[in-house]
Amino acid sequence: MSTILSDNHHITTKQCDKCPAPAAYTRKYSGQTLCISCFKTSIARKVAKTISKYDMIRNSEKIAVAVSGGKDSLALLHVMHEMSQRHNFEINVITIDEGIPRYRDEALQIVSDVCNTLNISYTVYSYQDLFDVTLDTALNMRQQQKQKISSCSICGTLRRRAIDIAAKDTGVDVVATGHNLDDILQTFLINMLSGDTDKIAWMNPSGGNNKPRRIKPFCEIYESEIVYYAFASKIPFQEEPCPHMNEGMRTEIREFFNSLESVRSGIKNSMYASVLKMVQMAHDAAIHNNTTTTTARSKNHILNDNSSVPLTQSHLLSSFASDIKSSSSSLSHTSSSKHRTPCIKCGSDCTGNDGICSVCRIMTMLGNNIEP
Ligand code: SF4
Ligand code: ZN
Repeated sequence: MSTILSDNHHITTKQCDKCPAPAAYTRKYSGQTLCISCFKTSIARKVAKTISKYDMIRNSEKIAVAVSGGKDSLALLHVMHEMSQRHNFEINVITIDEGIPRYRDEALQIVSDVCNTLNISYTVYSYQDLFDVTLDTALNMRQQQKQKISSCSICGTLRRRAIDIAAKDTGVDVVATGHNLDDILQTFLINMLSGDTDKIAWMNPSGGNNKPRRIKPFCEIYESEIVYYAFASKIPFQEEPCPHMNEGMRTEIREFFNSLESVRSGIKNSMYASVLKMVQMAHDAAIHNNTTTTTARSKNHILNDNSSVPLTQSHLLSSFASDIKSSSSSLSHTSSSKHRTPCIKCGSDCTGNDGICSVCRIMTMLGNNIEP
């Protein structure tokens, strides 16, 4: 008897759809049942397809994989490492040390062990070195200043800047992160619920034309599949969650999508297709407003969508492939990026109207006058 793990832990006995080996994983949304080896191959192929579809990596580019020590980034490192052996690009690893005692220390050890085993060079950049504060110090300052900003908002803003600095320092063209399809849906909904609709315009999985381009090669893969890939590949990863992770609404939104998926298989795929369309629309509007349009892309593929047809599940699934294709081809050829000016405090690239970058704004809010 073989045990089959699926998106909602359905258990049955079956043979792999691709080979005579016993099945190990069922994709409930498609009905496909695979053995461990064919499952791993399917993930590698899906990543390769995503990279090509969104034009994520170009010939001879230098890629940094941002590795935290969690399952997603370490699984991505394994997939990218295998891919780099057969294709013309090289990878290294950058790791950000936020300064979360114990939690981050274990992760740093795992990253160091994995990179040494795979013979990949890695560099650690700490908030302490870059911003003169650890996340823990920043959170204490937040308390003293009675600020309501969440840990993840502070941490995420500093991490984005740290990655930019690390990318520049290591001379990479592209930074690959382990964000999966679930992460993208959660971020989209968080942005909507927080009224941060401007951010939706820049959720392009291909990274647009920014330097470095930030790419998300797992953007079309469910989190449950990444977990299974990591276990099936015997990838060591840190299982302990960040002590601050439940402060924001991400955990509740994750549970909301998981409970929907458990009764309506494939709904995350359908939502992802819709998110891509919304990103495209928001991006077109942002570029139009900035009057910096550099593309002659038609918006009609979004407006012509047959949205008056009742959205049954089979309709959603059958339209998924073409939705993704049309939205992703537009997104991958997007050549516009945000209008940037140097921050008046630190000189970094800044997209805000007041001329102050997001890091300086947070530092000021926390009462830290040391400029990053
Ligand atoms: Fe930072 Fe939030 Fe992630 Fe913790 S969960 S590492 S605070 S972004
Ligand atoms: Zn600044």
